[in-house]
Amino acid sequence: MTKYDINELYDHTQEPFHLKHLLTDLGERTIYDAVAQCNRCGYCETVCPTYMMTGRETISARGRNQFLRLLIEGRTRDIGSAEESFSTCLLCGACTSVCYAKVPTADLVLEGRRSGAGYGQSFAARMAVDMLLNKRPFFELALKAGFLLKRIGLSALAGKLGLYDFIGMPALKTAQSSLDRAPLKFLRDIFGKDASLKPEGKKEISWAYFAPCGPNYVFTEVGLSTVALLKRFLGEGVFTDNFCCGLIAYNYGRVTEAREFAKKNILRFEELKTLFGDFTVVGDCSSCVAFMKTYEQLFTGDEEWQPRAKTFAEAVKDILEVLPAERIKGRSHDAGETVTYHDSCRACHGQGIRSEPREVLKKLAGKSFTELPESEWCCGGAGAYAFTQPALSERISDRKMRNIASTQAKTVLVGATSCLLQINAGLKEKYPSAKAVHYSVYIDDLTKQLT
Ligand code: SF4
Ligand code: SF4
Repeated sequence: MTKYDINELYDHTQEPFHLKHLLTDLGERTIYDAVAQCNRCGYCETVCPTYMMTGRETISARGRNQFLRLLIEGRTRDIGSAEESFSTCLLCGACTSVCYAKVPTADLVLEGRRSGAGYGQSFAARMAVDMLLNKRPFFELALKAGFLLKRIGLSALAGKLGLYDFIGMPALKTAQSSLDRAPLKFLRDIFGKDASLKPEGKKEISWAYFAPCGPNYVFTEVGLSTVALLKRFLGEGVFTDNFCCGLIAYNYGRVTEAREFAKKNILRFEELKTLFGDFTVVGDCSSCVAFMKTYEQLFTGDEEWQPRAKTFAEAVKDILEVLPAERIKGRSHDAGETVTYHDSCRACHGQGIRSEPREVLKKLAGKSFTELPESEWCCGGAGAYAFTQPALSERISDRKMRNIASTQAKTVLVGATSCLLQINAGLKEKYPSAKAVHYSVYIDDLTKQLT
């Protein structure tokens, strides 16, 4: 028997596992009231990748909302179908973008997942989140040790020997094999020693760089390019020396810890605000940035932290939206080499960012820039989705690959590190003449001559 129960989701008696309320377009709502906003029109069916790939109502946005509502009302006990319905959702938000009522399906799906027995309670999930939150030096040391093993080929051997299954983390086997990099210096190591990014000696700043875990721990070149761009186009700034945004904890059933991550980052922001007044917190992974923009929702009902989270969220911006197109100058993109842009879900659906990066790209790439058909179609990466739902993820990715191939692009620009990993894995196999590159790295390369 799972915990699915009308009282839990309706009255939030298990509040540590759930959000108190959702912040919807119609205001602050209980989970039941938010899901009841779905009028079953089906308009979202045309954009939901899992429905489009399978034609199955139970794994569509409408189906997921109906499942949650029926569970709350105690009108279904089909726990197996509910679990499949919730676990196959990409949390991409495409449904909400086209929904007239703006039903927050992804957040509702997460509430459904959190009601599943044992969700987020495994030893591995608790240990990973606890280490990242409370034992960061140890976490980073362990990660470096893992990367060192990868460099000498031992992590692949561990996969063959079944060690990842033994420690209850089978997804690590696929994750480590799909990574083609293993940095032994993280952004925190690099920026922590960079005097130009410290608050000391500065009177004012216009930005503070927030290093999301993807750039911080894996794609360090992304953070280096982002900071170079911020210095080049926005003036003085600092490194926030932040914690993980908490998205991993939030998405994998650890809401209490997600709030703890958020509090640590808000406190750091407030320290800098005392010194410098207003500035923008800029991150370069759209998933993390979109999540930080919703920090207020983590604290509904908390009179102390809700307003502080709101102030923090209002200062947060994605690198995709902060570069001033009118001031961008640089060398042109190589003529004859087509470049295209993939809208990461948490940029377009999560933050409504669509035109800003295109304005910059059109200025630098000119006629070499080509629109990607179905650019808002999810790449299938969706955090750990490629590892937890490999079959569906591959079908969704295949459609993205076909669309990329149709543009004959050599470069596919993205704004989230999960997309970088997933699209490059797909291209390597299906369309190897193209490569996915992070937006910051591409723009930095073309505008370097200005410095
Ligand atoms: S989620 Fe929105 S678009 Fe989809 S069925 Fe419900 S009301 Fe209609
Ligand atoms: S978040 Fe994405 S996968 Fe989930 S229901 Fe909405 S459109 Fe479908």
